[in-house]
Amino acid sequence: MVGGVLDRAERRSATEQFDRRTSLLTAAVRTETGRYVDTLQTLAAATGTIPVLTTSVFAAATAPLAAMHLAGASSIAFIVPAATEQVPAVQAYWRTRSAGPLTLKPARGTGEHQFGIFSRALDPRTRSSTLGIDLAQAAAPSQALAEARRTGSVTASDTYQLLIDRRLPPGARQLSFVLTAPVYEAGGAFRGWILMGLRGQDFIGTTLERLSQGLLDVTLWAANSTRTQVPVARLHDAGSGEPDLHGDLTVAVADRIWRLHVDANSTAMPGADGNLALTVLVAGALVSLLLTTLVFVLATARSRAQQRVRVATAELSAAEAEARRQAGLLEAVLESISDGVGVVDTDGEFLLHNPAAKAMLGIGEDRGGPSNWQEHYGIFTEDGVTPFPADRLPLVRALGGESTNQVEMVVRNAGQPEGIAITVSGRPLNAPGQTGAVAVFHDVTARKRADRALAEAMAGLHAELTRREATEAELRAFAGVVAHDLKSPLTAVAGYAEMLRDSLAGEPGDPPTRDQSAAGRILQGAHRMQHLIDDLLSYATARDGACQPEAVDLQALAADVVAERTEHLRSGGTSPAGSPPLFPDIYTGPLPLVWADRAMLRQLLDNLLGNALKYTIPGQPARIDISAHTRPGDDQVRIEIADRGIGIPDGEHERIFTPFYRVQTGRDYTGTGLGLAICRRIADRHGGSLGVSDNPGGGSRFWFTLTALPAGSLADPLPVAVPGSRS
Ligand code: ADP
Repeated sequence: MVGGVLDRAERRSATEQFDRRTSLLTAAVRTETGRYVDTLQTLAAATGTIPVLTTSVFAAATAPLAAMHLAGASSIAFIVPAATEQVPAVQAYWRTRSAGPLTLKPARGTGEHQFGIFSRALDPRTRSSTLGIDLAQAAAPSQALAEARRTGSVTASDTYQLLIDRRLPPGARQLSFVLTAPVYEAGGAFRGWILMGLRGQDFIGTTLERLSQGLLDVTLWAANSTRTQVPVARLHDAGSGEPDLHGDLTVAVADRIWRLHVDANSTAMPGADGNLALTVLVAGALVSLLLTTLVFVLATARSRAQQRVRVATAELSAAEAEARRQAGLLEAVLESISDGVGVVDTDGEFLLHNPAAKAMLGIGEDRGGPSNWQEHYGIFTEDGVTPFPADRLPLVRALGGESTNQVEMVVRNAGQPEGIAITVSGRPLNAPGQTGAVAVFHDVTARKRADRALAEAMAGLHAELTRREATEAELRAFAGVVAHDLKSPLTAVAGYAEMLRDSLAGEPGDPPTRDQSAAGRILQGAHRMQHLIDDLLSYATARDGACQPEAVDLQALAADVVAERTEHLRSGGTSPAGSPPLFPDIYTGPLPLVWADRAMLRQLLDNLLGNALKYTIPGQPARIDISAHTRPGDDQVRIEIADRGIGIPDGEHERIFTPFYRVQTGRDYTGTGLGLAICRRIADRHGGSLGVSDNPGGGSRFWFTLTALPAGSLADPLPVAVPGSRS
């Protein structure tokens, strides 16, 4: 009786133990699958908020998963849809964001493809990845993807053999399934899926084992869409003996309801031994404690996992923001630089063309590959006509591993009808995850134009120099002829006329005879002729002679000219007109250092001073002021020679600079009418100007301009002291 009661009591106790364990098991499986689903959901949501998804961003986003110990998770991947005709465009789009060489391999058929774009292995056994693989070729994951997209929530697939497991030895292959979550952009547009591959046994086996404690046989049955049930995970842990306790429980795995079947042997259950009271008490307490602890552990594990995801998401956002900042910076630099930058992948497909490159090339990108570039962009050698050899293009050479610098070429096409000259430097590109070539284009059209203009100017200058040298040679020949064939006989004529006049001279005080007067006129005529020849030579030299400017101390030069012009007065001679000497009053103000041909400048000063001394009012001595005037910030100095002489009649101020023009004064001022014309030529040759105005109060004020040298280099402006001069 007692034994029967105890038997019944023990059996009840074993059943209770069994029930507790199975419900604990269900809770654990539910919690565990919930953790996976939550993780997937969080990751999909985070992925949707990332504006530019790249390999590195995906790697950063999924990095925390490795530390979460998601048992059974083989890999996590980002999948995108593409219709057959969209495959090339989708491939090109994701290639620019993919670190490795990405080639989409569409499975047969014309329906929608589902390509793996980024992938991370979560299990060391996972050797291959889904990159580029079309999941549409496997019915189970493909249907799950379609279902997830349709429902907008996490979906579990039918069980199947993972594509990436097909390379494993048969013993290591497990029945697997995928969990997938749709990814939506912030605006709600569908972007793709996050997909996690799971090996069933690994996924739940560990959890089952932990909770069975050698007492239970457990089978997790997946409900497939074909209404069949297949075992995903199995645990034989109940030891020997016929199981007499059975339980069937349901577990929600994403959108599916899976079944957990549990068997146990009641005799092996705790509480089935004879020490009922103690066992019931201790075991009951232990089991409740265990249950509480496990539930707590599972609950906190879940919240810890969620916290990790939150932290990871925050880190990811920060990393993504930084990556975006860097990318933005790089993009801004590429947008703003005036040099063109072009990047191609190993197949010669353009990955990047900044605005400057687009503007230089004039027309859109070429899709025909490197062999087509010459024709497409209209690339010619420097001569602008010869087509540039395709295999010598810097980008093509860079794809072959060769660097080039500043290769000159001309681009002429519909967008650049005038053609532009550019230099191109190419480099092979070996960035992590991206190989290809990069080229930098520099527009040298303006420089080339300037070079051409400079070359033309140099040629013009050279021609001018040659012409000038020829003119100077002509002038030298002319001067030689003049000196030899005109001046020599004239000197002889003057000499004989002088001899004749002297030999015909009578007694002192006798009036001159007719022959004497004739000899005197011949002498005068010869002298006039000599002056004319000298002036003609000076006039020719002023235009055609070599002009060799140097720093000239104008102060010293003026003093010299004044001294020479007044020499005859100091030596007690007569004035040039033969009248009694009238001492001129010459004031020379401080004069600067100037940039001029010394001989020419001397002649200019001498002519103007000579005129100022010559064109005086009869009976009045010359009063002359030589002064310099500068304006701040102007390197030109204006030299003025003002006199109190007869002045220039109205309307004649410009004409007197015409060769041979002389004002009719009614008085006998000797001259050839060439002096001022020579002066103007000299001023012109120095890039300056020459003119005359009336001197207020009477007389004329001749002026000319020259380039002055800095005041610091002025010679000591000592006053010039010559007889009859003031300073
Ligand atoms: P030339 O003195 O040999 O006649 P220039 O060419 O030096 O020739 O001068 C041209 C003319 O300008 C002179 O004939 C004269 O009438 C006028 N002229 C030149 N300098 C002065 C001056 N300082 N005062 C008045 N008239 C002058």
